[in-house]
Amino acid sequence: MIKIFNTLSRRKQKFIPIEKGKVKIYTCGPTVYDYAHIGNLRTYINEDIIRRTFEVLGYNVLHVMNITDVGHLTSQADTGEDKIEKAAKEKQKTAWEIAEFFTQEFFKDIETLNIKKAHVIPKATEHIKEMQELIEKLKEKGYAYIIKDGIYYDTSKFKNYGKLSGMSFKKLNKYLIEGARVEPVEGKKNITDFALWKFSPPDKKRQMEWDYISEWKLDKKEFEKIKSFSEENHNIKILEVKDREDSVFVKFNFIGFPGWHIECSAMSMKYLGETFDIHAGGIDHIPIHHTNEIAQSEAATGKRFVNYWIHCNFLLVNGQKMSKSLGNYYTLRDLLSKGYSWREIRFLFASAHYRDEQNFTFESLNAAKNGLDRIKNFMINLKNFKGGRHTKEFTKVLLESKREFIKSMSDDFNTPKAIAAMFNFINNVNRMMEEGKISESDAKKSIDLILYFDKILGLKLEEWLKDEELDEEAKKLIEERERLRKEGKFEEADKIRELLKEKFKIVLEDTKDGTRWKRI
Ligand code: AMP
Ligand code: ZN
Repeated sequence: MIKIFNTLSRRKQKFIPIEKGKVKIYTCGPTVYDYAHIGNLRTYINEDIIRRTFEVLGYNVLHVMNITDVGHLTSQADTGEDKIEKAAKEKQKTAWEIAEFFTQEFFKDIETLNIKKAHVIPKATEHIKEMQELIEKLKEKGYAYIIKDGIYYDTSKFKNYGKLSGMSFKKLNKYLIEGARVEPVEGKKNITDFALWKFSPPDKKRQMEWDYISEWKLDKKEFEKIKSFSEENHNIKILEVKDREDSVFVKFNFIGFPGWHIECSAMSMKYLGETFDIHAGGIDHIPIHHTNEIAQSEAATGKRFVNYWIHCNFLLVNGQKMSKSLGNYYTLRDLLSKGYSWREIRFLFASAHYRDEQNFTFESLNAAKNGLDRIKNFMINLKNFKGGRHTKEFTKVLLESKREFIKSMSDDFNTPKAIAAMFNFINNVNRMMEEGKISESDAKKSIDLILYFDKILGLKLEEWLKDEELDEEAKKLIEERERLRKEGKFEEADKIRELLKEKFKIVLEDTKDGTRWKRI
């Protein structure tokens, strides 16, 4: 039984899937205008560990992650420039080239970090039709209105608009103004209202823009206002007007691009259904992006959108959120070029709980390296373990450790507790190895348990261990030393022992069952 802290209910809840044995997960993907920083990657690693936990516990997972390749503006308030068009201008590339390049770089990063690719990775630019259909539904239900620069969603019409953030409509409005998270846009009815569709600006030609043919029933005053917008902006095209007694039927072509929030609503519902199990993302998405996804989706379908909302906390640097705008960030390639390995980075992020903030320091990265070395040495020593006898104590330690690990992961994906259980196992088995309380077959079982944990942690320990096998030269030297010892040539044997220590960082231990080797 998995328990999840659901942002919507603000408590831990038992996970009950919609379809038995299946989990449908949507995670918000990257906006592909630049390299991801390791704060973004922390969130993707956390989400990957959550997905793997479900898989290891026997669930059939369907995971969808979008690629935002259009429509994410530099301000969350539907103002400012499109991040991708802006990057294209700066780098003198087309917006399409920028989006494609950073999409591929993102895939490389997640592959390096052993993050499983989602089963479906829809691109926003390939789902414009679905987004327009959703906007049409919202228009028909009276949630949409037109202002100078786009079609907006009237958040005052949606009951419990702030429910995900635990704030009332009024309080959320106040919070967003005071926190300056959202700037006023001329013509918006409420500060929380957001763009469903933005019109291309009159003065600049956008690289990414689409036709949007849409029919509206407007009262005469409203129509006059929109007509004046269309006179100022040729991207609002009036194609047909039918005058009725008290209203006007107008067919428009709104040349423009989708709002960021509508992308996730349209693509998640297309691939996972109108109601699905889990939606995850960073905590910054609670008050705006995810709040708006709920408002759009639930208003359109009349159904509950998502059952469990999971939010990952931030990676900090000196107490501040790691972010592009503060310039306090590292990319994966920055850290790799400093000589750190992907495994150390992944293990560092796995060692903090996803709902806690994590402060990034190089000391903590070094500590992650030491932790990994302990795991690796443990496994190498188990592999080379000879002798000893099986004890009940070993079976008890093995079963308890497995239970504790799974219990911790099932309790809202508590990785620090699960990793502590793993190290506890390592300490106990190390002691028992010294005391000869495990057999060779127990050593093998211990390796298998660590590899089982690794299905969730995703550190590719098996592969690592293979890389770490003794090379032929060291193997031959150990055999040679053994032969010399048997012949009583102890001085020469000791020379080889020293060589193994210096050159291969291997120490030998002579036991009654033969010679064992260990890495230092
Ligand atoms: P963005 O491309 O800005 O939408 O960010 C991609 C994902 O990374 C989102 O889910 C963000 O919430 C998340 N994110 C951004 N900054 C951080 C950070 N410093 N620590 C953890 N996650 C972050
Ligand atoms: Zn999203």
